[in-house]
Amino acid sequence: MTEMDKRINLTGLSQAELVEFIEQTGEPAYRGRQIFAALHHRRLQNFAAMTDLPKALRERLQETATAATLTTESRYLSADGTRRFLMKTHDNLPVETVFIPEEHRDTICFSSQSGCPLQCTFCLTAQLGLLRSLTPGEIVEQVIIALNDAYGVGEKPPRGTNLVGMGAGEPFLNFDSLIKAVRIIADPQGLFIVPHRMTVSTAGVVPRIRELAAIPDRPNLAISLAAPTNEMRDELMPINKKWPLEELLGACREFERTLKAGERFTFEYVMLDGVNDSDEQARQLANLLNRHDLHARVNLIPHNPADPLPYQPSPATRVEMFKSILESKGVRTFVRRPRGRDIFAACGQLAAVTQSAGLRALRSA
Ligand code: SF4
Repeated sequence: MTEMDKRINLTGLSQAELVEFIEQTGEPAYRGRQIFAALHHRRLQNFAAMTDLPKALRERLQETATAATLTTESRYLSADGTRRFLMKTHDNLPVETVFIPEEHRDTICFSSQSGCPLQCTFCLTAQLGLLRSLTPGEIVEQVIIALNDAYGVGEKPPRGTNLVGMGAGEPFLNFDSLIKAVRIIADPQGLFIVPHRMTVSTAGVVPRIRELAAIPDRPNLAISLAAPTNEMRDELMPINKKWPLEELLGACREFERTLKAGERFTFEYVMLDGVNDSDEQARQLANLLNRHDLHARVNLIPHNPADPLPYQPSPATRVEMFKSILESKGVRTFVRRPRGRDIFAACGQLAAVTQSAGLRALRSA
């Protein structure tokens, strides 16, 4: 084990856990609360910067704990302002995070795993396989790093922040760490990004959809569908062989019935040219959702081309036609605009690839 492995990552502790940890060292509880605020509200990533703590305590923390474990290897800036971060864990595994500025809010897309064990054929991350699931601290740190990079350490973002768990990995195969990170991020004395501002996307891990249905303080849910029939979904998203559409949509219906005011539930449908975007497939999709009495909106996402994947995005006219067929059958539909395609930051493009020409690759200091 490296030195880093033995030290506890305080960024992955809830405020209560941090207070307990500090009390065990003989310090008063308020020091724990102070450190929690320093890590999450002031977004400090090292103990030396916490100058309101006694020097002896800072030195002791330095020996037994860590305030940050991820290092930024590279970051890339897209022409549309999107920032993509390629980070490394302490054990040298890739973690990718994307920051997307928007007019009224910013969105940070975080990863829940390094690589991904699922084999969605339209996704570049799938080609990495699963390297490992990320810890709660590693999930939270991605948000801190992205905000500090965009606005400066501890500076209040001028706009609100939305979080989406749509980076690398299947969040529901790292469920406990995900939920813990959600709670840490929501703490009013910390980052204070509430669950209503977060959306997690799953490829369809049915037992965890049911588990989420029973959690009161939960993030919004998005289900990646990609196909209107089992035959096609088996091919595009092999997880469908384990939890086929009938089972998945049954769990979705149960989940939809637990929705409270302000919570959002959506389906994501990646549009692959000539594969899943025909008029007939639009009708099949609408009928499927209507048959299961589902009212969630469908987000159509034109595929983001990524070599060596064999797909192309559906042309805009096809996407519009698909949308109008869904809408004619009462399905609310929205077309998502791709962001950061030029830096491989868009959905399905994250695979720790290093960029080639034409990019402003900014080496981190
Ligand atoms: S689309 Fe998501 S779940 Fe599927 S392989 Fe890619 S990262 Fe994993």
